[in-house]
Amino acid sequence: APTPTQFPLAFALTPSTDARAEAEREAILADPGFGKHFTDHMVQIEWTLADGWHNAEVIPYGKISLDPAASVFHYAQEIFEGLKAYRHADGGIYTFRPEMNAQRLQRSAVRLALPELSTADFIESLRQLVAVDGSWVPDAPETSLYLRPFEISTESFLGVRSAQKVGYFVIASPAGTYFAGGVSPVNIWLSTEYNRAGRGGMGAAKTGGNYASSLLPQELAYEKGCAQVLFLDSQEGKYIEELGGMNLFLVYRDGTLVTPESDSILAGITRDSIMQLARDRGHNVEIRQVSIEEWKAGSESGDIVEAFACGTAAVIAPVAQLRSEHFTLGAAGAPAGELTMSLRQELTDIQYGRLPDKHGWLT
Ligand code: PMP
Repeated sequence: APTPTQFPLAFALTPSTDARAEAEREAILADPGFGKHFTDHMVQIEWTLADGWHNAEVIPYGKISLDPAASVFHYAQEIFEGLKAYRHADGGIYTFRPEMNAQRLQRSAVRLALPELSTADFIESLRQLVAVDGSWVPDAPETSLYLRPFEISTESFLGVRSAQKVGYFVIASPAGTYFAGGVSPVNIWLSTEYNRAGRGGMGAAKTGGNYASSLLPQELAYEKGCAQVLFLDSQEGKYIEELGGMNLFLVYRDGTLVTPESDSILAGITRDSIMQLARDRGHNVEIRQVSIEEWKAGSESGDIVEAFACGTAAVIAPVAQLRSEHFTLGAAGAPAGELTMSLRQELTDIQYGRLPDKHGWLT
């Protein structure tokens, strides 16, 4: 069984000797895009079966050297997280519900037979990196520093068993406005040929293999003019699950929000936060199985009035059309729903410190 950390780790800092000059950094921050540029430092923590977690360090951003036999290259024993650091008007830098990412990484670790990092050490690893690379957090509206913690098996051994040597890392990448020119509704493609995860599989874990398997269906979605692919359950091919990298909500005429219940989807932190904000406003929120037939019937009768996708990167993306081989729901270029946009506004206002943090979500 993986050993959880029993003590808070102390981090050593080795400052970079070739950190980018201010002018170069500012040029990157003026138009960062997504996932293209990385800050000057990274976090590295080692784990071995004998010693548990040790050697916590903030070091210059750079290459990781691994033996070609390292098991991550062969058996994909890998997990990751994604969250953002936001700059507030007071200059402070805040993360949003990082303890939820810590717990999800722990659940992913259990499923992938990797060691769990404690919530305190996870949050401290983010704090350490932001402390040295804080100048990389942009301040234009809707921009942030995207944090990417990940854990990989580093042991050189080709036997198929869980690794006895593991590395945890955090890298950071400035992120620009997701929707250049305002939030625009997206089309999604219903995949009937491919599934994302099966019963008892890894669907609830944030692990590379789930994303590798989504790349081909995602390409088919692009060919159909869609930004994301929607997966159905693999048992009956009847119930909606989630998109390649986002969760999904349907909004009914009476204000009820419905999001799929499934043990093979990723429990999104954006999704959980939206459920809370909607309940605070008095909306009925249901987590339950939702069939594609229900969406079709509700869309045709007018009972379902809005649909949106949600996740850390885009926060909330309104869905214009659901397209499939056999039918299309919604109108091309349909405007974003009113509730969709007002929930998006409230959530981003909390993240950027423009509204009080009534649930204690900021760290
Ligand atoms: N589902 C999948 C498959 C994802 O990759 C993500 C993004 N992490 C989400 C849902 C949304 O999760 P979150 O709101 O925590 O970003």
